[in-house]
Amino acid sequence: MQPEIPTAQDTATEKTFSLHDPFDREHLWHPYTSTIDPLPTYKVDSAEGVRIRLADGRELIDGMSSWWCAIHGYNHPEINAAVDAQLHKMSHVMFGGLTHEPAIELGRLLLSMAPPSMHNIFYADSGSVAVEVAMKMAVQASVSRSGNHDKTNFVTIRSGYHGDTWNAMSVCDPVTGMHGAFGPALPIRYFAPAPEVSFDGKWDPADIEPLAEIIRGHKDELAALILEPIVQGAGGMRFYHPEYLREARRLCDEAGIYLIFDEIATGFWRTGRCFAWEHAGVEPDIMCIGKGLTAGYMTMSAVLTTREVADTISRGEAGVMMHGPTFMANPLACAVAIASLSLINKQDMGRRIAHIEAVIRRYIAAAALVKGVKDVRVLGAIGVIEMEGPVNVGEFQKRCVERGIWVRPFGRNVYIMPPYIISDSELKYLIENMIECIK
Ligand code: PMP
Repeated sequence: MQPEIPTAQDTATEKTFSLHDPFDREHLWHPYTSTIDPLPTYKVDSAEGVRIRLADGRELIDGMSSWWCAIHGYNHPEINAAVDAQLHKMSHVMFGGLTHEPAIELGRLLLSMAPPSMHNIFYADSGSVAVEVAMKMAVQASVSRSGNHDKTNFVTIRSGYHGDTWNAMSVCDPVTGMHGAFGPALPIRYFAPAPEVSFDGKWDPADIEPLAEIIRGHKDELAALILEPIVQGAGGMRFYHPEYLREARRLCDEAGIYLIFDEIATGFWRTGRCFAWEHAGVEPDIMCIGKGLTAGYMTMSAVLTTREVADTISRGEAGVMMHGPTFMANPLACAVAIASLSLINKQDMGRRIAHIEAVIRRYIAAAALVKGVKDVRVLGAIGVIEMEGPVNVGEFQKRCVERGIWVRPFGRNVYIMPPYIISDSELKYLIENMIECIK
């Protein structure tokens, strides 16, 4: 059932109290939040389809897919059924020395969707951990392949985001990332400027020259280049030219360094292709996936790699891949992922995302005329309004909630990445009200 789209409502005092929980404010840390002056949090009672129902009964149309994972919407009957069935068999068994059908079936599904050269799969706990695992793989393979124990560093591009754990942080953009807070505690990486030529701009070979110089100059220290293909997400919501990736692949091969694609945000059709590498037709050596993998139900990620990388690691000094988390290949998470990928494979996702992209373009264009807007861009099921200055998140979200939508900006970017099941009228409502909020 699709309830009426909510309108702005006056919130009674007792409702505000239940919506902004005092225990939560006093004791619970939220992401990137001060304990002295925390931003308000809105208490959620339930979520269904593209609607988030607040504790005071109001409903919000979700523009975030809960940080880009709930691609099929909330409370999906087929995913619920998959969890339920698995729960009654086993919720978990260790993956050391044991295996199970959900892990095997998921592996088969993943290889059928991944770049053809992917051969070995490492299941990990979260996006950040996948990045840690990918970087560890690159180091182990690099040392094993070259015999050079110093060939262990990384190069990346500015405006990137790869997660909040130690190594992941070290390759995030030094300005928008967390280098300020952790500075000398972080390993020092090589940073090339962010690509400037936009996704549909005219390719200019000069765009990749600074990266080429770093790679050529430091190839004996470098294990890999790590980047988010095509869309740089949390580091700036930038869409860059596919030629950059083709050139990057060539440079990595020339220099004998591995290429890691972090497809945690771009994977599972968000950019209009199943994975973003397809825009450029170049395959990575190592690839991280997460988010949509488990459709916002459970935390799980995976690192995929080639037979060459996997066997090179196995021929190295350690003789094994040095990682093995407690919850590796958790059967419940695998069952959820199988259901999520089966839902994807049942649909013509290319057409579906092209349609969402067209609808976003139609309604978001009006934002370009609003004062303070610097740029408006759309790719796949991503719509971005970049402002000239930073957005006041607390104030912005208050307005969004009053209008019945859920959008959480960061920095200068107000953006949507809605669940793929969103209807045209919901998308229209979401975008029109988001534009009202930026006004
Ligand atoms: N890499 C990318 C490209 C991401 O967008 C994110 C999360 N936004 C991560 C890594 C980290 O994932 P997680 O939050 O699951 O650790």
